[in-house]
Amino acid sequence: MNIRTRVGIIGAGPAGLLLSLLLAMEGIDSIVLESRSREEIETTIRAGVLEQGTVDLMTGMGLGERMQREGAAHHGIELRFDGSGHRIPLSELTNGRAITVYPQHEVVKDFVAARLKQGGSILFNVKDVQVSDVSSSQPHIRFVHKQEQMELQCDFIAGCDGFHGVARSSIPASGQTVFTRSYPFGWLGILMQAPPSANELIYAYSERGFALVSTRSPELQRLYLQCDPQDDIANWSDALILEELQVRLATRDNWQLLVGPIIQKSILAMRSFVIEPMQYGRLFLAGDAAHIVPPTGAKGLNLAVADVRHLARALTLFYKENRTDLLEAYSNTCLRRVWRAEHFSWWMTSMLHRFPDDDAFGQRMQRAQLDYTVSSRAAATSLAENYVGLPIDW
Ligand SMILES: Cc1cc2nc3c(=O)[nH]c(=O)nc-3n(C[C@H](O)[C@H](O)[C@H](O)COP(=O)(O)OP(=O)(O)OC[C@H]3O[C@@H](n4cnc5c(N)ncnc54)[C@H](O)[C@@H]3O)c2cc1C
Repeated sequence: MNIRTRVGIIGAGPAGLLLSLLLAMEGIDSIVLESRSREEIETTIRAGVLEQGTVDLMTGMGLGERMQREGAAHHGIELRFDGSGHRIPLSELTNGRAITVYPQHEVVKDFVAARLKQGGSILFNVKDVQVSDVSSSQPHIRFVHKQEQMELQCDFIAGCDGFHGVARSSIPASGQTVFTRSYPFGWLGILMQAPPSANELIYAYSERGFALVSTRSPELQRLYLQCDPQDDIANWSDALILEELQVRLATRDNWQLLVGPIIQKSILAMRSFVIEPMQYGRLFLAGDAAHIVPPTGAKGLNLAVADVRHLARALTLFYKENRTDLLEAYSNTCLRRVWRAEHFSWWMTSMLHRFPDDDAFGQRMQRAQLDYTVSSRAAATSLAENYVGLPIDW
């Protein structure tokens, strides 16, 4: 069966869903193809920190009602090392900008609900997605939906299918350059039923490795521990996780971690990845399909949002004014911000983690950087500006 739309979008993550909503605001039709079920995408636990620009965009589009009610604006973060906490006053250093803690799966729920309410088309549980003819003016996507072989003909294809998606592989190797960096550690992340232990996020550097105290809601806390990326989660009992968190987060004034039942735990690897360019013919990659950052800088979801904002604008000018300049510039426009975020995420990661082969010199460098960051207004402002997010048109 053949169907047609202007923009075929692969992936119903934050990038694909937001793109479909932005295009709909301009009267441009699209169809979103998603390999998982609605329930699965609405319950997968991932990011939680939204930059000011992401919050402003969602609010301006009328998508921020639940986020304003249930999310929490944070005006600072804490860097903790040598048994002491040091607050970085984000808002004071950035003319009132802040971050909002609102879980990614709640963002996804809000986007799905909004798109379906508009009568938009999101096909869940699609299989065998294949992209064809992206060099022509009539690219198409073949896939199976409800046991039926389908073909979606479109003017443009947006590959928003995440790091493990299929869209990126349609770009011939000769037309792409890939940049990667793996880190010799992973993060063990838990969800714990407990009240928050702190009002703001705590990034802790300790002899035993990095720890992060984050939150999801007044009842549910998200915490992370640096660990061996090859480690088996079965080696980490709940008691061991809590003990390790307490040791890494200990302060001289006896700060207490509020604990409760751990309801989910997993280990994730950390890597940086960028493909250049982010476009080929009529295929445009956005979000994790084109780049990955280690989560230390909380940038992944926010980069996905910035990409699709540029893509929606470029497509709008194409359809309304027959202009192709923004489409041609799409990759370069996005990559400037992507590399800024790659650097910030790498910098935070390098400053806060223990490297397995690190010597005393390397550790002294980390301490010197931490000390400078918390004691120089200029250094703290640089961290704050990047953390709350550079303006969307930066
Ligand atoms: C533990 C963790 C913590 C994080 N914390 C933060 C944070 O605090 N702040 C932040 O900004 N970022 C964070 N990130 C990163 C953030 O989650 C990602 O950058 C974000 O999900 C990217 O959105 P996306 O839409 O590009 O991709 P995804 O969210 O990966 O969505 C891609 C979608 O495409 C679908 N798909 C895949 N293949 C196919 C196919 N062949 N056909 C059809 N559909 C397909 C997938 O099922 C998925 O639904 C975190 C990530 C992790 C793992």
